[in-house]
Amino acid sequence: MKFEDLGLCKEILSSINNIGYKEPTDIQKKAIPNILVGRDILGCAQTGTGKTGSFIMPLIEILNSGKSKSRMPRSLVLAPTRELAMQVSEEFSKINQYLNLQMVLLIGGTSFTEQENKLSKGVDVLIATPGRLLDHIERGKVIIKDVKLLVIDEADRMLDMGFIPDIIKINKLLPKIRQTLFFSATLSNEIRNIGKDLLINPKEITINPYSSTSENIDSTFIKTNNENKMNDLKKLLYIEPIKSAVIFCNKKADIDKVSRFLKKNKFSTVSLHGDMNQNLRIKSLEKFKDKSAEMLIASDVAARGIDIDGLSHVFNYDVPNNPEDYVHRIGRTGRAGKRGKAYTLFDDNDNKNVILIEKLIKKKVYKTTFDKIISAQKLSYKNFNPKKKINKYISKTFILPEENYLNFKESGKIPDFLK
Ligand code: ADP
Ligand code: MG
Repeated sequence: MKFEDLGLCKEILSSINNIGYKEPTDIQKKAIPNILVGRDILGCAQTGTGKTGSFIMPLIEILNSGKSKSRMPRSLVLAPTRELAMQVSEEFSKINQYLNLQMVLLIGGTSFTEQENKLSKGVDVLIATPGRLLDHIERGKVIIKDVKLLVIDEADRMLDMGFIPDIIKINKLLPKIRQTLFFSATLSNEIRNIGKDLLINPKEITINPYSSTSENIDSTFIKTNNENKMNDLKKLLYIEPIKSAVIFCNKKADIDKVSRFLKKNKFSTVSLHGDMNQNLRIKSLEKFKDKSAEMLIASDVAARGIDIDGLSHVFNYDVPNNPEDYVHRIGRTGRAGKRGKAYTLFDDNDNKNVILIEKLIKKKVYKTTFDKIISAQKLSYKNFNPKKKINKYISKTFILPEENYLNFKESGKIPDFLK
């Protein structure tokens, strides 16, 4: 099935062509025609499968005929975090490039006045986080009783973050007669129940079984211990051909610790966690996305939905406490058909959580040690001195030149810069 067969107008098809999407993903194939005939949708597909496009494309198609009114959006997209809302707005702008729909993004940390000015000019699509939207509604700056199309993105994350009461509040202010699209990476009973309150006779579209990890990700668990953990991480960062990587930590204190350590070792890093203010969070993400920083050290704030083009690696400095977070964390890589690698450092204290992960993904994880990896790559660990600085090779954008890495993999010889 091609994009041309889905019932989208030529302006949208041209934008899709410009972005470079060749064919619709599975969720897009199934969701778009159903949305275009006006059905409510309960959509579940694992992270990285193009759920954003599956609602943004038909939303634009539906709204394209019709006029915007000041302060009264015709559609509303709710996303759990500022970063995700921004990402949806970016996808919107790309698909809308040949059309004239007006979009306003309401997220915390940005100026109220600017957002209000935009709202008063007329708005077709309002993309918002629940809290910020309620702020604007309470201040009388936006009226949502004209919303004909509601999208709830990343519903499972909404639930985790405690936004369901806000959504119920918002739902009470919306017209009963409308179309609702509900998307989630996982579909627990709790999520289904929330869906029941919001959706009318929805078409359920489930693409991948609950909690599966992508086939495109090679995931390895490396046994370490508290003492060596940081050094093992560093060694991994040196031997892996990294284009860009996210390093997840469970605790904010560890994010700071890892950042300091890697900065000291001349890696270019940025951090992202819930305690940072909005401006800093946006700055970090921008630096990481435009590749001026090659590592993002993050908490689970960055685990869901965030899409970074060409992310080659995910490192779990800690085993996540919640097994579903593991699926989301490693799902940042191996997206859009590309391959990705994930490494998780674990020690004896993590056994319980590792078992929970195995239960959830219904398979055993591959466990090894750092020494085994090194010997598999014919790199004699004795010759490898991690203390020795290799600054000139880890200058601006790259840690290990990929061609060197590949040569070294093929020949088994230790490259000069590691000696
Ligand atoms: P999800 O919301 O399911 O986690 P996203 O909507 O963020 O996934 O999409 C993941 C990645 O796939 C993005 O980089 C997006 O640009 C890309 N993508 C979306 N649709 C297509 C498509 N039809 N063909 C190729 N890439 C796509
Ligand atoms: Mg998404």
